[in-house]
Amino acid sequence: MRMIPSANPGANYLAYKTEIDAAVMKVLESGWYVMGEEVEQFEKDFALYLGVKHCVSTGTGTDALILILRALGIGPGDAVVTVSHTAVATVSAIDLVGARPLLVDVDSIFFTMSPKDLEKTFANWRGDPIKAVIPVHLYGQPADMNKIVDISRRFGAAVVEDCAQAHGALYQGKRVGTIGDAAAFSFYPTKNLGALGDGGAVVTSDPVLAERCKLIKQYGWKRRYISEISGMNTRLDEVQAAILRIKLKYLDDQNKRRREIAKKYCEYGVNSHLNHPAPAPGTEHVYHQYVVQSEYRDWLEQHLQACGVGTAILYPVPVHRQDGYAHKVSIGAGRLKATEDICSRILSLPIYPELTEPEIRIITTALMSFKSKKL
Ligand SMILES: *Cc1c(COP(=O)(O)O)cnc(C)c1O
Repeated sequence: MRMIPSANPGANYLAYKTEIDAAVMKVLESGWYVMGEEVEQFEKDFALYLGVKHCVSTGTGTDALILILRALGIGPGDAVVTVSHTAVATVSAIDLVGARPLLVDVDSIFFTMSPKDLEKTFANWRGDPIKAVIPVHLYGQPADMNKIVDISRRFGAAVVEDCAQAHGALYQGKRVGTIGDAAAFSFYPTKNLGALGDGGAVVTSDPVLAERCKLIKQYGWKRRYISEISGMNTRLDEVQAAILRIKLKYLDDQNKRRREIAKKYCEYGVNSHLNHPAPAPGTEHVYHQYVVQSEYRDWLEQHLQACGVGTAILYPVPVHRQDGYAHKVSIGAGRLKATEDICSRILSLPIYPELTEPEIRIITTALMSFKSKKL
């Protein structure tokens, strides 16, 4: 039996193969491979798409977060708040600039940062000063930004949106990435806007912050070979930028298709032993992941596997429980109760625009026939 893979970046390439191949050939033959026209044009296109003034492309999404934190002057002796239920990248970026990650709980329904726990954590925290808050728009679901921005402003912290899973998602009519002081995107191949390799971007409407990001991105150079400030090297290459320019044109259509598939799962995959995701009011979810919850998660995973449906668990262990980070992080007021509870219940179904109608039917039928007992 052919398995339906849980993610399928190859299918997304094939969907636009002719256009992508031509664009890649053009770059290869141009003899210009980094910091050229494709990158410049992609940065303009992406800023325009989001409705933001500046876009500074980077080598990865993790680097985009690092760049923003460095440009904000955050480092050793500072704390940065984020969630533990996220890609480890969010927390590793904070650690890599030398700051202390302070992890708060998520909302148990929407999986995004709990404003209540954020507020309590700000009020009770006695450690290093909190300089920034990084809400993650996890699975394509925008976080509760009005409350998060309001609380962070009151306590004097910057807001940096982690948009790695939410390209094109809307929060009260605004694209995520335009709400905080700056935002980081990743173009890792499986993301909603994915390159055929690594890539990332910082976006902001703050000209000073954008300029600092541009300097730090390349050794602190304003003029070539002359460092004005200390920096690093993180660049999107011309081939990836050319590919992303093509894929960006189709992003809204693809997100629409993801929402249509989500609607079918929710309508036809009904089963009392599992809960479907609930989109937060006032938002447009882009379903980077379609995450169901079940008390019998491991059996559900086996059942789907037996029906030919590949699944994934994002994420099986929260960051504060992982050996590499457990000793480096501090924990917020709510003791991460929802975070710990979620891990054993979540399961991601395949959701990408190239899924066919017969595949969608296989998935909904498999959801319906789950019996909650061991096979
Ligand atoms: C993918 C991802 C990142 C990091 O992106 P890379 O490009 O892989 O470095 C950061 N945060 C979240 C939530 C992600 O999903």
